[in-house]
Formats: sequence, C-alpha cells, structure tokens
Amino acid sequence: MKFTLPLLLVACSDAFTVPTLPSTAHSRSVPLYSLKADASSGPQTGIKRKYLKKVAKTVAAGSMVIPQAAFAAATKTEPTLHTGQKIAKAGGIAALAALFGYAGTKILGGSKKQDFLEATPYYDQSTVPVNTYKNKSPFTGKVVSTKRIVGPKATGETCHIIIGHEGKMPYWEGQSYGVIPPGNREKDGKPHSVRLYSIASSRYGDDMTGNTASLCVRRATYWCPELKADDPAKAGICSNFLCDTSPGDEVKMTGPSGKVMLMPEEDPKTDLIMVATGTGIAPYRGFIRRLFEEDTPARAAYSGEAWLFLGVANSDALLYDDEWQSAIAKPTVNGGKLRLDYALSREATNKKGGKMYIQDKVEEYADEVFTKLDTGAHIYFCGLKGMMPGIQDMLKEVCTNKGIDYDEWLAGLKKNKQWHVEVY
Ligand code: FAD
Repeated sequence: MKFTLPLLLVACSDAFTVPTLPSTAHSRSVPLYSLKADASSGPQTGIKRKYLKKVAKTVAAGSMVIPQAAFAAATKTEPTLHTGQKIAKAGGIAALAALFGYAGTKILGGSKKQDFLEATPYYDQSTVPVNTYKNKSPFTGKVVSTKRIVGPKATGETCHIIIGHEGKMPYWEGQSYGVIPPGNREKDGKPHSVRLYSIASSRYGDDMTGNTASLCVRRATYWCPELKADDPAKAGICSNFLCDTSPGDEVKMTGPSGKVMLMPEEDPKTDLIMVATGTGIAPYRGFIRRLFEEDTPARAAYSGEAWLFLGVANSDALLYDDEWQSAIAKPTVNGGKLRLDYALSREATNKKGGKMYIQDKVEEYADEVFTKLDTGAHIYFCGLKGMMPGIQDMLKEVCTNKGIDYDEWLAGLKKNKQWHVEVY
C-alpha cells in the first residue's frame, strides 16, 4: 500500500494531536455524536449456558432470586442488585427473554445452544476462532446500520458500522475481520484485495445477540496538493465502500484474525493500559463493553484498572465518549474501574507548548504507567503506525531518566506478553 508524503502527514497530524483537559470535566462539554451504549438493556447474553439453565430453573421454581445473584452464585462472586430484578419479578418467559435477550430465548426454547460465547473457563484462549472464513470463501454479512459518529468539525469522517453475521462468524474482543470490497482493481482488473478492520464490539455484538459485529471505520481520502482538494479518483476503496453502506447491503468478510490484542483475562486484577489514536479505539470498545457494560464472567471477576488514552485532533473527532462516561460510572463489583485521558492535538498543548500528541499525554503519567507495568499491567497500542516512533522515543527518554535500560525493559515486557501492538 503506497502513501504519498502529503497523505501521510495529514493522517499523522490528525492522529497525534490531542488536548489536556481533565477527562471527566472535559467530556461533559463535548457534544455527543457517538452511539448510545446498549447499556440500558440490563443483564445480557454474556452468560454461560450453565448460568442460564440455573436461572431458568430458579424462575421455574417460582423463586424471586434475582438473575445477577444467580449469576454471582454461578461464578462465586458478590452479587449487586440490578434493574434486572424488576424484570424477573414481572415473571414469565417473555420477561426472561427480554432480560437475557436472544441467548436466553434460545435456551428456554430448547433450540440451538449458544455456548460458543464463553470458553470454559471463560479466560481460556485455546479455542479462540481464527480464519473461520478465508479469502477464497468469504462470509457474506449484511449491514444492519451505518452511522457517522463524529461531529461537524472532526478531521475526516468516521463511521460505526454494524454487520450481521448470523452467529456464523464468532470472534473475541481484540480480533479483526477482513473486508473484501466489491469490484475490481483498475490497474489489473483483478478483484480488490482484503482490508483488515479491528472489531469494535464485544463478542456479543451491540445488540447482545452474538449475531453481529461492529466496525469503526475512517473514510480514507486523498488530499491532492495541486488541486488543494480531495481527489475522489484516489479515495480509499474499502473504507469508502463501508462508510457508504446502507442497511441490508452485503459485505464479504474474512476472519476473524489476530490474537495479539486479546485481553489477559486469566488474572482478573490485571491493569490494562489502552493507547489509541483515531480508529485504534476499536478493539478497546470491545474490551470496555465486556468489562463494564455486559454481565460477563470477565466483568464479574475484574478488579483492575482499565486506563484508556485516546488521541484525536479535536473534540468533534472524539469517538464513543458517551460510552466511556457510562463505563466510568459502572465500576465492577470487585472494584474494577475505567480511567480515561484524551489527547486532543489541535486543542491542547504539551508541556513544551507544542501540540498535545498521544505520547505527550502518556508521558504526563509516566511514573504511574511504569509502576503499573512493573507490577504486571498489560499495555496496548492501536491506530496509525505513525504513532509508534513518538511513543517509543518518549518511553526511551523516560527509561534514560530513570536509569533503566530501554531495550532490556521492552524485551522483558514482550517476554511476559505485556506488550501488545496493532498499528496500520
Ligand atoms: P485503499 O484503497 O487501500 O488506499 C489506501 C490509501 O491510499 C488511501 O488513503 C487512499 O486515499 C490512498 N490512495 C489511493 N489512490 C492513490 C494514489 N493514486 N496516490 C496516492 N494515494 C492514493 N482502518 C479503520 O478505519 N478502522 C480500523 O479499525 C482498522 N483496523 C485495522 C486493523 C489492522 C490489523 C490493519 C492492518 C488495518 C486496519 N485498518 C483500519 C486500515 C484498513 O485496513 C485500510 O487500510 C484502510 O481502511 C484504507 O483502506 P481503503 O481500501 O479505504 O484504501
């Protein structure tokens, strides 16, 4: 894939400029262009079949035990009372189906089981699906919805696209799908090649059915320096195809692929440091939904701090801010919590008076970040590949100031599988 210099510069400067406002205060003043989290629907389908059976039995026996208490019993954690209680009290299969969604309905109806949603135990990664669908025999999904999720002053357009896969293309948080855009290449008439997109939903999908996946796609444009305008003839093929889709449109997909960005769920007290520029936010949306919005065993157990750093150009370019605010307000029963910092490059300045890039924001917390990594935190980087040199230079400098050998330090993190990078 060839990028011209002007194209690269535009892409990088957008991604690595960000603001220093205190995240919570800041977010309140940010217009909310992002999608509403599906958090209002109560306990979801992120539940083991064993748990669903247990709840079904409990309800059949006329017990008033609330679903989350049953869930906690199944997972040996403390229950928290939930709005699900009211629904359970209303009684009846319809209420239960509404409560648990599609999975619950299927179990109660005695039809197809949905135990693919959680491994046994839930953190066991030996069965993570990889390349279920390959380039030669892709799966044809159908678009459920396509929405622009940035404000009018955002640099470029980013869309949230939900695609139906009928439960036939299961994936784990942190994986990617391939998309084969329709049509043929101009240069040789061969079909377009596959492009990868990080999946931006949890394995259950935004509707909690396990039948959809969401993508967060930035429309790739080409700024022509001579024309001083976008040249539509050179616009990115696949991103424009995806951002222009309508409900019902067919999308050829491959995958899921990748294991680099999976969450380390075996030790639920593990701190996560998630660093993103632009659409690099996608995998973290899946993490955060799983840890803070869905009644998954991962959420029931989580007691660490998940710390999100997002770098974009300006407030209008922020992605999913309302969802992060919702998750911040929902620490887990074991004290797991979400922390958020934004780096808005065109609206804030770093300590040297320059643009606030993602590495500048992380550097502000260097001591804390290093302490966390010393004690087993996992750090993730996702977004444009241009973000990594700045990040690495910053980390090197911090190491030098602390008298740490950078290469040894990095090799140690990689050896312990604490270092995760997916940049493009
Ligand atoms: P292409 O058609 O492949 O063109 C590439 C670029 O070249 C475009 O910017 C285009 O404008 C420019 N161009 C076209 N013709 C010319 C020309 N003649 N001269 C100069 N420039 C030209 N992207 C996301 O938006 N979200 C994600 O979550 C995401 N996740 C990814 C995960 C992975 C693991 C990887 C590897 C990539 C990911 N990407 C993601 C990037 C994505 O795969 C595509 O590379 C991106 O969408 C651009 O593809 P395209 O088909 O639109 O552009």
